[in-house]
Amino acid sequence: MAAFGFFRLGRLLLAVTATSLTGPALAKAPELPQTAPVPQFNQEATPPSPADIPVPEPRPADAPEAEPPQNEQPQNGQPQNGQPKTQQPEPPAIAPQPPEKPAQAEPPASPPAAPPNPAEADKKAEQEILPDPRSAAIAGKEMPAEELACRRRLKSMGVDFEERKPEHDTAVGCSIPYPVVLKTLGKSIAIGPETELNCQMAEAAARFAASVIQPAAKAEFGTDIKSIGQASAFVCRPRHAGGKLSEHAFGNALDIASFALSDGKEIDVGPTPPQKDAKFLDAVRKAACGPFKTVLGPGSDADHSLHLHFDLEPRRNGGTFCQ
Ligand SMILES: [Zn+2]
Repeated sequence: MAAFGFFRLGRLLLAVTATSLTGPALAKAPELPQTAPVPQFNQEATPPSPADIPVPEPRPADAPEAEPPQNEQPQNGQPQNGQPKTQQPEPPAIAPQPPEKPAQAEPPASPPAAPPNPAEADKKAEQEILPDPRSAAIAGKEMPAEELACRRRLKSMGVDFEERKPEHDTAVGCSIPYPVVLKTLGKSIAIGPETELNCQMAEAAARFAASVIQPAAKAEFGTDIKSIGQASAFVCRPRHAGGKLSEHAFGNALDIASFALSDGKEIDVGPTPPQKDAKFLDAVRKAACGPFKTVLGPGSDADHSLHLHFDLEPRRNGGTFCQ
C-alpha cells in the first residue's frame, strides 16, 4: 500500500511540474491569493480571548510572584485553612520598601569630593560644589543622644562651656543645630574670645589641646599653656563667587592666632616666628593633621598667614588636607 501511495504521489508531482513548466499553468496562478483567508482564522480566534483576559488580572494582584495560589499555601505554612487568598496579599506589601533604599544611598554621594591640589582645586571645587546638606540641618525638640554624649565627654575633660541656641541662616546656609560656646579647652587652658562651635569640633579642639598643645609647650618652653587666642570659630560669612561654604559656617572650624604661656610669654602665629616659637608651632601644626581633617596656616595662602586653621570637614574616605 505504501509503495502504491508513493507511486501515485510521484505521478501527481510529475503532473504538477509538467504543468508548471507550461505557459498556461502560470495563467491559473490567481487562485493562490485565496490562501489569504488563513489570517481570518487568527482574527476569529482573538475575539473570544478578551473574555478570558479579565480573569487573569485579579490573580497577579494577589500573587505577584507568578506562582499559582495552590503552591503558596504550603510555602506560607500558615495553619489557617479557610482564607489563603486573603492572607496572600500581605507579601506584596514588602515590595514597596526597595524604593526607599536608593533614597538612602544618595547621601554618600552628597559630600563634596576632596580636592587633590590646594588652592587651584579649591577654586574648582567651589564652582562645582553642590549646596551643603548641612545647611538644611535644624534642631529637633530634643537633643540627639550623640550630642548629649559629646557634652558628657566635654565635662569629663573639664571643659567649661555653655549651650547656645541653634544657628540657622537660610539665606547664607550657615547652620549649627546644637552649638556650644567654649570658655576653656580643659581644666587649665582658657580660650577666647567667645568660641562658638559644634560639639564635635569643640571636643576635637579640647582633646588636641590636652594631648598635643600642652605637651608641646612644656617640651619647648618648660611651662604650661594658659590660654589660646582664637581668630574665628563660628562665622556666618556668605560664600564668595558662588563657592562652597566655609567650615566656619557650620561651627566646624577653629582658627588659632596665639598661645599664651603661664609665665606671660605669648606665641603669635605668623610667617616668621622666633626659632623656639617656630619649633612649637610646627610641632602643633604637624600633629594637627589627622585629629583635624583640614590644617592650614602661614605659607598655605594669604588668608592663613596669621593663624592656624583647623577643621573637621567631612571628606570621602576620611581624607585630610594639610598644607
Ligand atoms: Zn579658618
